Order: sequence, then structure tokens, then C-alpha cells
Amino acid sequence: VCRDLVRRFDAPEPPPAGNRRERIDLPYCADPFSFERRKADSVRIGPFRLGGEHPVRVVTPWPHLLQRDAGADILAFLEAQLKAPTTLEPEILEWEVGSGDDARRLGEAREALKSETSRLAFLVRPAGPAAPWKAATPFAHALVWTEPLPEGEVLAEAKIRSLTLIVEAAEPLVAAARAASAAKAGVPCAVTLTAPQSTPRLHDYRRLAALLAEAGAAVPILVTAPEWGRPEDQVLESAILTGGLLCDGLGDAVLVRSSLEPAKNLTLVYNLLQGSGTRITKTEYVSCPSCGRTLFDLQETTERIKRQTGHLKGVKIAIMGCIVNGPGEMADADFGYVGGAPDMINLYVGKDCVQKGIPTAQADGALIELIKAHGKWQEPKQ
Ligand code: SF4
Repeated sequence: VCRDLVRRFDAPEPPPAGNRRERIDLPYCADPFSFERRKADSVRIGPFRLGGEHPVRVVTPWPHLLQRDAGADILAFLEAQLKAPTTLEPEILEWEVGSGDDARRLGEAREALKSETSRLAFLVRPAGPAAPWKAATPFAHALVWTEPLPEGEVLAEAKIRSLTLIVEAAEPLVAAARAASAAKAGVPCAVTLTAPQSTPRLHDYRRLAALLAEAGAAVPILVTAPEWGRPEDQVLESAILTGGLLCDGLGDAVLVRSSLEPAKNLTLVYNLLQGSGTRITKTEYVSCPSCGRTLFDLQETTERIKRQTGHLKGVKIAIMGCIVNGPGEMADADFGYVGGAPDMINLYVGKDCVQKGIPTAQADGALIELIKAHGKWQEPKQ
């Protein structure tokens, strides 16, 4: 049924207006029914590599308002993120340059952050064709090549400053052609699509991947999710776009445009990466929906276990209401906490039941001891 649904909804769309010659039946990934990451060249942005086998990178838009006194603000942001229960460090900060002041502030921020060169990179985004972007490139690791900027000037500046280019265009055909041209000129680059507010672009990214494959350009893809008005739309639409593409194996970096403050934006992006299984930054939980067989308060128990184990990066814990169906539904969890009988819990390691009939009051402690015994426990941050 799933395969049939995918085929039906994945049918080629009509060609975009004005691009009647563009082929629409190109394959965009190896197999939509199994995960295989798209093969892309690896490029460097400051201390980070993206593409190839490298982790999917996170690009965080740094709000224009926070550009004043940015060195101190970014340092405070880094410190706060490092102290958070789950460390979600920013990697590449996008810095919009619309005036000479913006460029000067970027220089000041880089100076204030010179001890952080191993954990932060800066991507300059020209705010428009008249923006003095060249004043900012001495302080940048990467530059967004937006559509009006002249190719010759951009490629020359990228070579002089050793910048990686993020080629950006509205149309997949244009983006693919420009990315192929930059790569041919020997300039390291990644490619993305413009993200007008409230515009779904899933099919456009698939088309971009197909066109790059056809052109033989293994250029990494930055998935840029547009801003949506309501917070619930922001989460849902960002998840549909980035989650769908990452599950296709497409996407070497992710940027979510939103009105969220940087820390919340960062959390959203890491949640999207965790949800698609492409970058694990925290504990993963599986729990059943509960039913008449459930032997304990599933919601309360799950919350309680999360509070005690939420810092165990990469560990997968299943919390299931009964032994009738629970063990079979635990997927590939490392540990299972399963209702065995009223007020009794069974604990699992993988699919094997290793402890039976533990009184509920002692079960949390027993689960933690089990995790410790298998070398997957870490003490939480104070
Ligand atoms: S695992 Fe058991 S309790 Fe949970 S939904 Fe399935 S049958 Fe119900």
C-alpha cells in the first residue's frame, strides 16, 4: 500500500512555466524505498566539511538585530548552548550584509571570536545587488552567490579569498547550471534554492538533485527551509521539506528560515536531523500509543524516564505498555522498559528480556543500572 501511495503522489509534476524543455522524469535518488545518501563532493567551510560522508551541517541565520555587539552576543550564545543539557553547538552562522556597517560588524565579531575559530564559520549573504558584499568577504568562510551578482566577479573573489560559494537560485535548472559552472571553474561550492516565505519546495529540491546528477556535478546541497507564519506551520513544513529530503538521501546541510531566536532555531534543526536519523544528538525514545492492555501510565512513565536518561546521546529506549505486542514493536531499541504484569516491569536489551517482574518503584533504577552495565551511561551535566 505504501509503495502504491508513494508512486501515486510522487508522479512527475507538470514542467515549470517557462521551462518547457526541462525534463521531469529524471531520478532524484537511488531508491525512494531504502536510504542511500546522495554522493556529493566534500567542501570546506571554515573548520567544517560538508558533503561526502561528513555529518549534515547546520547553518543558523544570525538575526540582523543581533548583529550589534555580535562578538559578545555570539560568545554568550555559544556558552549557553554548551551549558544546555544536550549540547547543540552552532556551526555555520549566516550573516546578512546590506551595508558597510554590517561588514564592519562582521569584522569586529570575528576579532572578538578569534579564539573560537575551531568551532564556528561565517557565511556572508549579500542583502541585494547593491550590497557592499566585498567589504565582508575578508571575514567570511563562505559567500552566498545570489542571482543578480555577476558570475565573473563572484568567482574571482571566491578564488582570491579562498571562499566556498553557496550558489542560490530560484529555479532548479538555473541553480544546477551555475553550480556546475562554479565547480568547473575550480571554486568549491554547494547549492541551494531561494526560500520565499510560505513556499513548499520539496519537488524543486528533488528536481535540483536530478539535474545535478544529469550534469555530472556532485555538488553538495544545502536545504533551505522557508519561514512560515505560524509556529506550528514552521515545524510541520520544515519537517516535511528537510525530513522528506534527508530520508531521500538528499541534503548535506540544513538552514531553516524562521522568526525563532537562534537557540530555538538550532533546537528545531537538530530535532529535524534526529527525526530523520541523519544526525543523532540526544536520546531516542520509542513508545507505544497505549491501549486497553497498557499496564502503567504511559505518558507519565515516559516523561519520568526521559528526565533521567535524556542526556544519553545516541541511546534508543523503548517504553511499551505490555508484553503482548510491546517487544515486537520496539524496533531496534537498545533497551526496553515493558509492562510485564500489573505493577511489574520487564527490562530488555535489544529483543532479549533480561529481567522480569521488577516492581515499578524499582524499575527506573534497574533500567539505569542496565544501561550502565552495557557501557552506555554518562553522568548528566550539573
Ligand atoms: S504495546 Fe501493548 S499496551 Fe502498547 S499499544 Fe500495543 S498492545 Fe497496547
